[in-house]
Amino acid sequence: MDGLLVTHLPNIRYLTGFTGSAALLLVRTDATILITDFRYAVQAPAEAGQAAEVEVDQKSVWDRLGRVLGATPLAGLGIESHSLTVRDAERVAGLTRSRVVPRSELVERLRAVKVPEEVAAIREAAALAQEALAEVLPTVRAGQTELEVGAALESALRRRGSEWHPFPTIVASGPRSALPHARTSTRTIGRGEWLLLDFGSQVDGYCADLTRMAVVGGRADQRQRAMHELVQTAQRRALENLRAGMTGREGDALAREVIAARGFGEAFGHSLGHGLGLEVHEAPRLAPTAEAVLPAHAVVTVEPGVYLPGWGGVRLEDDVYLSPDGPERLSDGRTELVELV
Ligand code: ZN
Ligand code: ZN
Repeated sequence: MDGLLVTHLPNIRYLTGFTGSAALLLVRTDATILITDFRYAVQAPAEAGQAAEVEVDQKSVWDRLGRVLGATPLAGLGIESHSLTVRDAERVAGLTRSRVVPRSELVERLRAVKVPEEVAAIREAAALAQEALAEVLPTVRAGQTELEVGAALESALRRRGSEWHPFPTIVASGPRSALPHARTSTRTIGRGEWLLLDFGSQVDGYCADLTRMAVVGGRADQRQRAMHELVQTAQRRALENLRAGMTGREGDALAREVIAARGFGEAFGHSLGHGLGLEVHEAPRLAPTAEAVLPAHAVVTVEPGVYLPGWGGVRLEDDVYLSPDGPERLSDGRTELVELV
């Protein structure tokens, strides 16, 4: 392979700085060429001009790619098999006589290892998210809908400078908190009910991802308290002991063992965490099936949860930088049980 066609937009942004929604990036041993269209004629050279030769095609980026590939034949052209559609892979094969080599996660592996500027952006995104939460949470009352709370939180995030919501904000109340990926709904929040808030923010393209729990309009009951304490204990064990050099499975086990020991292993049905960066879900993974080693300088979430259908669920999520000297929390770790009385 003496060339790689990069088509996954976060990878293009990572390699060149280009933030637009349409581009092909050809990385050769002798040149880096960004092909985009008319809409980005001004933006692309401004953002990516330092890193790549920018070619703007008025008609078709694919036709232009064909001409570029024809001008400098390659022995082997890599394509990003995890993101290119079958149709576009066929299109690439039709544009070149080079051998087309499907490759997976090459740029993603680079992205998993953060430089200080990237870590700083995630830390800033987390700080902004925490400030938004601190503004909105005390105003939440029984009788509001999940969507009303979500709107207030998203507004607070944007006012503080979050570029966008990296994923749909999850506001789940009462029994709906047992849905790990609940859609924020028109449900009215009742007294003494769980409120689960899973939300993100984005600074310089880099994402933070937090989950916090509250009980609305009353004190927590004994069961709510016990479940919260269990998840908090599991999360703290992982936050304190997670290390670069562990496998993703070993990292996951730090929290999972605590929950399983109390008999709730089956109620923790998702993985412990995921990498954070230009995408809200990226490498590396913390999961029972993740045999890959966690690299130093990765940023991951730690988010154990326990979900009891019909009753509710608890998840607590913080963001951690795996420095060579140990884990460094980028979010505040304030996972105490909030009672909005
Ligand atoms: Zn989350
Ligand atoms: Zn997450």
